[in-house]
Amino acid sequence: MKNRIYYQCNDKAIYQDVVNAMRNTYRKAPNTRKPLLGSLASSVEDRYDEYEQSFLANNLLSINDCTRNELESDALIYLYEGNSQIVDNLKISIKDNQEEHLKQICPSCGLLPAITVDHYIPKEIYPDFSIYSKNLIWTCGTCNGKKSTYWKESTHRGIINFYTDHIPTFRFIDCTIVNHNGILKVDYHLNVQLLSTYPHIVKHFERLDILGLYKEHIPTKLSEIIADIQSFKGILDSKKVKQILYKRYFSRIKDFGVNDWKSLLLRNIIIGKHYEQYL
Ligand SMILES: [Zn+2]
Repeated sequence: MKNRIYYQCNDKAIYQDVVNAMRNTYRKAPNTRKPLLGSLASSVEDRYDEYEQSFLANNLLSINDCTRNELESDALIYLYEGNSQIVDNLKISIKDNQEEHLKQICPSCGLLPAITVDHYIPKEIYPDFSIYSKNLIWTCGTCNGKKSTYWKESTHRGIINFYTDHIPTFRFIDCTIVNHNGILKVDYHLNVQLLSTYPHIVKHFERLDILGLYKEHIPTKLSEIIADIQSFKGILDSKKVKQILYKRYFSRIKDFGVNDWKSLLLRNIIIGKHYEQYL
C-alpha cells in the first residue's frame, strides 16, 4: 500500500476551458448547460478553494454539503461525463504524474489494474468536484464499483485517501500459508487491533472487501510465483533461490510497501521454506 502524488494544476482555468469548449447548441437547441456553468464559475471556484484547504489539512470531512439545485448538479456532473477532451487530458496527466511502477495499479487493493477514475468525494453528492483534480484518482473497476457513492461515516472517512492519508509503515495485514499435502493455501487477515487509530483503513478494507478480492485472485497469483520458482529446478540450489526470493521481496517492499499482497506472500514463502518443495 503506497500513497499517490496529487496532480498540481490550475483547476479554475480547467473549469473555464471545459465550459468554453462546450458547444453553444445541442440537438439544434441552445445548450443551456453552458451559460449555466458559466454563471456558476465563481461559486465553483470558492468550492475549489474550500476543497483545497480541507485537502491540504487532511480534513475533507469539514467540506460543506452541496446546496446545488437539480439543474446545476446535472450541468456540473456533465462537465465530467460530457466526453470533454480537456477532461480526458486531465485524467491522463493525473496518471502520468505517478511513479512508473504505481501508474497501472489500483491503490485501493494494490492488486488489479487502475483503469477507471474514482471521485474520492462522489460527484453525485458533491457535483462541484466532478472535474476537480485532487478529487480524482485512478482505481480498478472493482474497487470503484464497490465504493460507489460511499466515502465517509459520521465521525471519520471510510475510504483511504491515497493522496493525503498517512499509510502506516508497520505490517497490519497478517498472511498465513498452510501446506495441505503439497498444496499451499493462503489466508490474509486484517490486524484490526493494530489499526485502532486508523478506523478509515479498517472501513476501507471492509467496504471494498479487499480480503475477499485477495481470496478470489491470489490462487492465480500464487500459481505464477510457484511456476517461477519451479523454473529454477535443477538449475539453482535452494540457498540461491532463497537469495533471489529475498531480493524480490525487498524490491517489492520498496515499491509497494509491507502491506502489499505480494510482499506478504513472498515473505511467508521464504520464512516457511515453502519454495523448497518445488526445487
Ligand atoms: Zn482495486
